[in-house]
Amino acid sequence: MNDMSRMELEPSSAGLRKGDEVRVMAGRDKGKTGRVLSIDPRTRRVTVEHANIIKRHTRADSSKNIKGGVVEREGPMAISNVMLVCPACAKHARTGRKLMPDGTKVRVCRRCGTTLEK
Ligand SMILES: [Zn+2]
Repeated sequence: MNDMSRMELEPSSAGLRKGDEVRVMAGRDKGKTGRVLSIDPRTRRVTVEHANIIKRHTRADSSKNIKGGVVEREGPMAISNVMLVCPACAKHARTGRKLMPDGTKVRVCRRCGTTLEK
């Protein structure tokens, strides 16, 4: 993927929010689940706990008190590679929107219909 094609995408979080439990549907960590650590709707990338671990080799910098070595951390991946795990039916599901009687919109699991607001 190059930067041009990324810039043409409409910002979208695909119905996901920070803290949601998601399942990785594609790629190296397919099948793993974890919580959403961060979402970037502009680039449509998401960082998921324990998934897509990348190793960063850092150089020691004593003035900044940084030790050299290998740091492991989660790397961002495409939002389209993950799906929400519904807390009610425990399956990965698409999210929908439902209008409540008081006019607020809530997220719902499209599989079981449970409201996903906390
Ligand atoms: Zn559900």
